[in-house]
Amino acid sequence: MADSPLPRIGLTTRFASHVGLAPLAFWETKGVTGARRPLPAGAVPCVSAFADDAVARAHPDWVQVGPGGVGAVRGAAPYFDWAHLCPSHPEVLALADAWVEEAVQSQAGAAHLALRLSDAGFAREGFCTCGRCADGAGRRGLDPEAYRLHVTAEAIDRWRRRLGPDGRLFLTLYPDPYPGHLERRFGLDPDRLRPWVDAFVVPLYDLAYATTHWLETLAQGFADRLAGHPWYAELYALGVEPARLERAARVALAYAYGVVLAYGRDRGEVAALLERLART
Ligand SMILES: [Zn+2]
Repeated sequence: MADSPLPRIGLTTRFASHVGLAPLAFWETKGVTGARRPLPAGAVPCVSAFADDAVARAHPDWVQVGPGGVGAVRGAAPYFDWAHLCPSHPEVLALADAWVEEAVQSQAGAAHLALRLSDAGFAREGFCTCGRCADGAGRRGLDPEAYRLHVTAEAIDRWRRRLGPDGRLFLTLYPDPYPGHLERRFGLDPDRLRPWVDAFVVPLYDLAYATTHWLETLAQGFADRLAGHPWYAELYALGVEPARLERAARVALAYAYGVVLAYGRDRGEVAALLERLART
């Protein structure tokens, strides 16, 4: 796989019957709720590395802690839709390793391994302030921000190596291309990570794509930010009028290496749009 060029058009789906519609199909094997689903043949497994509501309920002491002692769980603040686990806990890292390993094993027989990681960073700026993060930073002589970058880079490097030299790693980034924001907000440094990441995936979701000026601005921002490294604009396809979705995809393709259509329901509609995009 790695010796062939990355496909320019892909999809993210929950329908096994959609997997063959594009040369690149992402399938969530471990999601933010903790739900795990078997991988259909030919799909790339997606693993939510440090986000898991079920684990957070069972182990509240593993949840990331922010300013004022706020735990990063759904409902604790308007911006938390799921729970973020702290990777300074060896148990959390071991769980993430196990989910990655499960995703790798589920590709038994595949010529090349592939993996998409999501939620591989911290909840947002100021997280995590738990005792283990403070100890970890102190032991390494790092300030909290440098420590967070170190922790995520170490894990992502390890998971990339698990895929072997012919494997392919995709990493989801939060849609914020402003210089320094990914580092400060989420502890992810694209420049540091790019040797291990074959392509970044940036969800630029909208329920209608009635206008595309913001999409174009963000896409251009990421094109600048990632400086030639492959990245996909992932567009939300469920319920979006096909002509608007196609226009949004074409706008994104002017800046991104490729585009990924996420969660479309109508197989015929998805197939037709993928075909039109692939022709351009
Ligand atoms: Zn912590």
